[in-house]
Parts: sequence; C-alpha cells; structure tokens
Amino acid sequence: MTKNQVKMWIVGLLAGGSLLACSPKEIQTGNLNVIPLPQEITETADASPFVIRSSTTICYPEGNAKLEHTAHLLATYIKEVTGTEVKTGTKAGKNCIVLGLDPSIPQKEGYILNITSDQVILNGQTEAGVFYGTQTIHKALPITEGKALGSLPAGTVKDFPQYGYRGFMIDVGRHFFSIDYLKELIDVMALHNINYFHWHLTEDQGWRIEIKKYPKLTEIGSVRKETITAPGSGKFDGTPVKGFYTQSQAKEIVAYAAERFITVIPEVDMPGHMLAALASYPELGCTGGPYEVATQFGVFKDVLCGGNEKTLQFAKDVINEIMDIFPDAPYIHIGGDECPKTEWKKCPKCQAKIRELGLRDTKEHSKENQLQVYFMSEVEKEIAKRGKKMLAWDEILEGNPDPQTTTVMAWTGVPASIRSAQLGHQTIVCPITHLYFSNPGYNRLKGVNSVGRVYNFEPASPKLTEEEKENIIGVQGCIWTEWTKDSVKMEWQMMPRIAALSELQWSNPAQKDLNSFLKRLRHQLDLYALSGYHYKEDIEDVTISAGPQGEGGEAVVSLTTFDNAPVFYTTDGSEPTAESPVYTQPFTLKGETTTIKAKAIRNGRESSTATTTLEYNLATMRPITLNCTPDAGFTYKGAQLLVDGLTGDDNYRSGRYLGIYGQNFDAVVDLQEEKEISSVSIGTYLVPGDYIFGLTGLEVYVSEDGKNFHKIASKSIPTLEKGSKNNVLKREEISFNKTKAHYVRIVGKNTPVLPQWHPGAGKKTFLFLDEIAIQ
Ligand SMILES: [Zn+2]
Repeated sequence: MTKNQVKMWIVGLLAGGSLLACSPKEIQTGNLNVIPLPQEITETADASPFVIRSSTTICYPEGNAKLEHTAHLLATYIKEVTGTEVKTGTKAGKNCIVLGLDPSIPQKEGYILNITSDQVILNGQTEAGVFYGTQTIHKALPITEGKALGSLPAGTVKDFPQYGYRGFMIDVGRHFFSIDYLKELIDVMALHNINYFHWHLTEDQGWRIEIKKYPKLTEIGSVRKETITAPGSGKFDGTPVKGFYTQSQAKEIVAYAAERFITVIPEVDMPGHMLAALASYPELGCTGGPYEVATQFGVFKDVLCGGNEKTLQFAKDVINEIMDIFPDAPYIHIGGDECPKTEWKKCPKCQAKIRELGLRDTKEHSKENQLQVYFMSEVEKEIAKRGKKMLAWDEILEGNPDPQTTTVMAWTGVPASIRSAQLGHQTIVCPITHLYFSNPGYNRLKGVNSVGRVYNFEPASPKLTEEEKENIIGVQGCIWTEWTKDSVKMEWQMMPRIAALSELQWSNPAQKDLNSFLKRLRHQLDLYALSGYHYKEDIEDVTISAGPQGEGGEAVVSLTTFDNAPVFYTTDGSEPTAESPVYTQPFTLKGETTTIKAKAIRNGRESSTATTTLEYNLATMRPITLNCTPDAGFTYKGAQLLVDGLTGDDNYRSGRYLGIYGQNFDAVVDLQEEKEISSVSIGTYLVPGDYIFGLTGLEVYVSEDGKNFHKIASKSIPTLEKGSKNNVLKREEISFNKTKAHYVRIVGKNTPVLPQWHPGAGKKTFLFLDEIAIQ
C-alpha cells in the first residue's frame, strides 16, 4: 500500500465508521501456479485480472444441488482469503464466476478454468471436476483478508489428476479424535484435492464404530484402561482412553466428506489387530481368553480364530453393518496385516478347518497363511455381493489371493508395490519409508529434507513395465496414532508433507521439480496459517551448508531458506537478531573452528535459530576420494560429507551421514601438503534395529605421492552385542607414532553379516559414517 492509499484507507475508516463499511482501493493479483500444480496453465499476457468484489456472484446451474453447495463453499473460501463477501445465484452474467458442466472434457475429474477481467468460467466434466477448479481458485487468490481486493490473473487452466485414487488414512483406533476435528482434517484433504479418506476404525487398542448386532464392541472394546508412556518403557500413564462413533455420527462424516467430493473408505482390520473385539467377545479367539483391550502397541499373537464358523459369521455381520453405514464406498478395507499364526498353529478349530479345506504348506505359502486367505475371501464374498471391492494391506499377498477381487495397499515398502502390481493386483502405494507421516525416524527429518523425501518419491516404480504401471491406481499418506494424541502433532505430521503428497497424486510426473514446488509452498503455508493449522515450522529454518574452496582448507558457507526469506547471522556464537548482518551471498571461513548461527525473519516473525559448528582438523575441507560405492539412497553430496567440518547429528537420514551397504569403507584424504600426523578417527552411527552396524576394524595407510601407500596402524573392533541400543553415535579412533604424510588412506571394515542374535541374521549390514578427523 502506498502512503496515499493508507491515507484514503484511514479517511474511509473515519467516514464509514467501521472497517466493514470501507472498501479498499488496492488490488492484489494471485497466482495460478498452485499446489498441486495444474496440468496446464496459460496466462494471458497484459490482460486485466478478474477482481473479486462484493458485487461478484458465483453462479450455478439451477437445480444442481451439488454445484449449489460447491458455490457456497467457494464463497466461504473467498471470504476467508480476501475478506470479500460475494453472492451466489443462478443468473450468470458479467462479474460472475460461472460454475457448470461440460461433458466434452475428457477426464471424469477434469476441469477447465477460463479467467478474463469480465468473467470466470469454470467447467468440469462432473461436479467433482468443478470442485477441484474451485480449490484452484481458492489457492490462486492472494491472501489479503480485506486489506486489499483480491484478483485472479487472466488465463486458462486445463487440469485433471494423475491418479484416480488419492488417499489419506487416519487411525482413530490408537487415539480417538472427535467428529468435529475429523471434519477439519477432511477440509485439509479437500484443500489438496484428495478424494479418499481411509478411516482406520478398529484396533487392538480400541474399537471405535458402533455395531448394533454386537453392542459390547463399543461398551467394552472402545475403552482401554491406560497407555504405555513410551516405546519399551514398561510404564503406564493410568489414564483411560475411550471413545467411539455412533452410526449416525459416522454417516455425518460420510456426508461432510461427500460435499467435498471425498469418499470415506472404512477399515475394520482383521483377523489380526482384533484385541478390542476379543476383549468384548472372548469366544471369537482361539483360546477363549480372557483378553484385554491392549494398553501397549505392537503386534499381538491373539487374533480372531480362523477356523471357527461363529467368528467368520461375526466378521461377515460386522462388514454388512459397515456397508450400511458407508453405502457409497467402492472399497471396504479389511486389513489383513500383521496377523501372527502362533495360536492358529495350536488351535484345534483352525487345524480342523485347514484339513477340511485340504490346505497344505507350499514353498511360498504356509497352510495357516492360506487359511487367512480363505477367511478373508469368505468376507470378500459378502463385500462383492453388494458390488464393492475388498481392499487389504500387502501381507495378503503371502497367501496368494485372487488379483481380480483383491485390491492391495502396499505399505511395507516399494518391493511390495512392485510385487503386487506385477501379480496383477490393483495397487495403492503408501510405503512406510516415504508416506507414513507418523514414522518417528522420518519425523525427525527437518525442513526441505522432510518435504523433499516425500516429493521425490516415485509412486510408479521404474522397475515396472508400462503395462504393470497401469495397476498402480493410487497413492496415499497415512497417520498412525500410537504417539499422536493431539491436534498439534496430527497437523504437523500432515502439513506440509501432504502438499508434496498431493503433487504425487495429482500433478504430471513430467513436470516434477522440487525447486518449483518449494517456490509454490510459501503460499500453501500461509493458507495453513490462515486456517489456524499447526504445520511443521522447521521448513522455515535456515539451512547452513559448507564446502571447500581452493587449497588450504578454506570453506565457503551458504545460508539458504526454501522461500528466500531474509536471513540474519552471526559467526561469534551469539544469538542472531534483526540487527545482525544480513546474509547476501556465500562467505568464506579460514581454517578455524567457527560456530555459525542463523535465523530467518519473515514480516517480523522469527524462525528457530539454526546452529552449526564448523570444526577443523587436518582433513577438513581437503580433497577426498572414495574407493567404495555409497548406497544410492544415502550418498547425498558424496565423500565430501566426511570432511565438511559438519559432524553427524542424531539422525542417520539427515544427509549428514554417508551410508554404505555390504562393503568396506575405503577413502583417501589429500592433505595438500606434507603434515605430521598421529591419530585418525571417524564417526559411526549405530542402529542395529535398522541393520546399521559399526566398524569391526580400522586401518590407516600413508603416502607421499598418492600412489604408493604403506600401512602404519590397524585395530580390530568387536561386533555389536545382543541388546545394543539403537541411535548411538560412536567415534572410532586409532593412534600411532608421529608420521609424516601427504595422503592418508583410511579403511573401515564393515560388519560382514548380521550376527546370529539378530532377526535378520546372515544378511548384509549398513555402515553409516561421518566426519573424518586427522590430527
Ligand atoms: Zn483358532
């Protein structure tokens, strides 16, 4: 706003007596490059924008209730973003946003948005397409909140989704979330063009949906007496967790979602993850109980009995009531994951059923796994009777199910989605490694690392043929709530990674570009803030990176933010403020240990302080070459990571560690002149649970010419013992008599295979290394 405009604003304020009565003169124009990025955007150069004014009307075809509702929703979005209250009606004309249907648009969910200064025309092949077009308008408008008029740039958007199934899953079994709060989360999904809400309704720790035929499921099964305080703590909080949805509340969610063109997919997980049901009806289990609603998390051996006709009838009855509540769901999810067969192997009923069915162990599929497929396929027949499809987690593949009737949700990893698609199953991709937004390890990733990991994921693996890729029908993000008790955590786990997810689901993979995405992300974060959502704010922190410059160990340091915000920094260890130097370009540090602190300040709002100490030793910022090949997923900037002065942190996925799989570490550091040395050390990060072991030996060689090396020291290191802790930083050091060296070769022996005590015994191990120190 110019000073004159401010004056007019104040005059208007005084004359009108209130903020609402005054009409601002300034016009701000938005941007059609929204998230998820539309397929095709053509901006009309030099044309005037379409200005949203209180006289603007959103028009819908008379008699079309869906578009009428969509028009009202769009009016709400416009009010929230620009502060302008627009009208809705059925008489189209100038100054209107005209919603309509155009059957010539080829894609079912496709839309065409045509913007001129006079009128906005938004057509979809279906009402769903129109809805996605209104979401584009919603996100393309500038956030002015009444301080200026908002306008849409003149142009055309032709858009349609990459995938027909665009899902998000929320687990309400481990922790209960209210109907009102779920509606807010459905709004977040709608903002990202998501069209399936996968509602995980039952768990070992709580049954959350009313089933009229089995009232104890909610009387008993929806309450657990307490919860373990942390993984493996053995301590319990003494606080009951309870809650369930009545059938009419669940229908309310279905209706709310449907108004946003989101279909709810209910999940009743069976035959595993059923302790809450077993606690309610012990006769459904193999032993008859007694059972208790679980108070800790994990996989439990007590599951539904696979050989009891009454149990099967229970499953069918429950699924039939579920289908009454969710009549529009094309899929019914019946879980099928994490179902140990411990009890089935001992249970006379299960074994009798196996004999009756003539099931035999095969090389690939045990007879108990085949019994699970029998159980699930019996339930599937109920689902098929009502014209719906069964959806299940990828463990179902263990029993060789029919690809015609089983849609697979591939969660265990990328290999599962590849296998499922190759076997001919319709497959929804949601690997724990990229799209489980509640995974603690990946939650510790920060900023661009966190969002980029999702964004750079490829749902249709390049290992699939074009024909097999057709079986990948969708992509989904998941939040499990073992450790998600409140809205703050729920929201920062979702946002902003759901924005990256939405581009995997919707946008054209050929246009995938992380930098372009990050440029568009700023506005999306502002929309989250406008709605009061708690997004993960470390995306706004400063990234400090350092690399060598010339000879002599000089380092060049750069300080970046994803949105090029103003950065203030210090190099003397003091806290940066708005008075500190402003970062303008990379700066040089001479070979001494320095602490850099940096902070971004956006419109007076400060990010957290990023702190990094660049620690110097003889190897720091010197040339290094590798004689081994790091794992492709953990290479980052390569060998230079090991001598960049930045010590590894408490997360092996952070980009600070070099990961090596099944090989020894072998590297040569060029000290660039002859130096006297007496010790070498290297940091290792140990996570035996993730197959990440330490060094079993260290050798040091020196050379004058970089060709002829001789060994000067070696030592062996014991293999990790059973019970070794995860997430441990360990520095391995080797000292020797003072020696002159120009080149130093360091060989680190990997643990060849996982030891006998490890669940993966015999498999190769990972080695995660950072920062070589030569003194
Ligand atoms: Zn049994």
